[in-house]
Amino acid sequence: MDQSNKECNIVVDGNFQIPFKKVIHFSPPLYRQRYNFVKDLVDQHKPKKVADLGCGNASLIQTIKCHSCIELLVGVDINKDKIDSQRCTLSPFCGDYLSPRDLNLSIILYHGSVVERDSRLLGFDLITCIELIEHLDEKDLARFPEVVFGYLSPAMVVISTPNSEFNPLFPAVTLRDSDHKFEWNRRQFQTWALSVANFYNYSVEFTGVGEPPARAGNVGYCTQIGVFRKIGAKATESCIAGQCDEHVYKIVYTVSYPSLQQKEVRKFALTSEVSRQVQSLKRRYVSSVKILQDDESIHKLNDTGIITFFGPVFTELEKTNIEKSPKPFCFGNKFYVPLERLFAYPKVNRLCENVDMMRALIRDTMRLNRDGSAVKVDLHDP
Ligand code: SAM
Repeated sequence: MDQSNKECNIVVDGNFQIPFKKVIHFSPPLYRQRYNFVKDLVDQHKPKKVADLGCGNASLIQTIKCHSCIELLVGVDINKDKIDSQRCTLSPFCGDYLSPRDLNLSIILYHGSVVERDSRLLGFDLITCIELIEHLDEKDLARFPEVVFGYLSPAMVVISTPNSEFNPLFPAVTLRDSDHKFEWNRRQFQTWALSVANFYNYSVEFTGVGEPPARAGNVGYCTQIGVFRKIGAKATESCIAGQCDEHVYKIVYTVSYPSLQQKEVRKFALTSEVSRQVQSLKRRYVSSVKILQDDESIHKLNDTGIITFFGPVFTELEKTNIEKSPKPFCFGNKFYVPLERLFAYPKVNRLCENVDMMRALIRDTMRLNRDGSAVKVDLHDP
C-alpha cells in the first residue's frame, strides 16, 4: 500500500477539497488511512465485539465487517440521517449465503449521543472514536471519558483527532471542518489522553496517519491517534449483567449475517457445494468417456475405473487426500459419488465435521444410494 503523500494541487481529507498550488494529496486518502489503521488493529487483536462511536454513515463498519473474528459490530451516531444514508450497504448479499462465515455476525446501528450511557455497549473488546472528539462541545467533552472509559470500560479504545500542527501546511485553514469545536496540537491531545488514561487505569500509545512532506519539518501526522489499553482484568459477565438496565439509544438498523452456526445456512451451503461438486465430476466423467470412445478405448476406462479430476486449485496434500478416497463410479445410467470422496474436497470438508454429519444434512434434498454411502444422479440428465 502506498502511504506516501505528494504535493499537488488539491488538499484531500475525506471531507473537503481546496484547490491551491503546492498542497498535499494523501494516498490512500486520509480517511482510508484511518480505517486501515483500525483494520490492522482488528487483524492484530481479533476483537469479538467492536463499537464505532460517531460512526457517521458506517463506512468504517462496512470496512471491518469482513473480519471473521468479529461477532458483534455496533455503530452509534447523533445524526440519524447520516446513519440512514448507507445502511443498506451493510446487508448480506447472496455470496454471504453461498460462502457463509464460520461465526455469527450481528450489526446494530444506534441513534444516540456518545455522552449518554447505554448498557448494551458494555463488555466490548474495542471501541473506536474516529474524528469524533473534536465535534464535542466543552460540556460533552468533559462527560465523554466518564462514559467511554469509566462506564463502558472496553479492553481497548482508539481515538483519532486532527493534529493542529499540520494545519499551516493547508492553505488558509484554521479549523478543518465548520463543526469542529477545537483542534489540538500533539501536546494538548497527549496531555488530555494521558490524564484520562491515568484516571481510568488505561495505558496509552500515540501514533498517527498522514505523514507530512519532507520539507514540513517536525509537525507530526495529519491525524493523531491514541491507542488506549485497559490495565488489569476484563470486566466479568456478572459485573456487566448487574448494569444491564440502561437502554437510551434507539435502534436504527439491525442485521444478522448467515453463518455456519445456523443449521439451515450450513445445510444450504453444504447442499449447494455438494451438488456443484457432483455435477462437475459427472461432466468430467462424461467428457472423458467421450474422448475414450473417440479413441476406441472405452473398455480401458471400464476396466480401471480411473478418473482423475483435479483442477489447479488444490494443494498437494489435498490432491493426495482426494486420490486416496473412494472413486466415483457408474452403474447403469446412474452416476455415484461416494460421500467419503466428497468429504475429501476442502470446501465440503469445511462445512461438516464428518461423513455422518454430511449425510444427515443432505439426505432430504439429495438422492443417496441404498446404504446412504454415495450421492446418486442420472448420468445423462443435464
Ligand atoms: N467516524 C466517522 C468516520 O471517520 O468516517 C465519521 C466522522 S465525522 C467527522 C464525526 C461524526 O461524529 C459525525 O457523524 C457526527 O454526527 C458524530 N457525532 C458528533 N457528536 C456526536 C455525539 N455526541 N454522539 C454521537 N455522534 C456524534
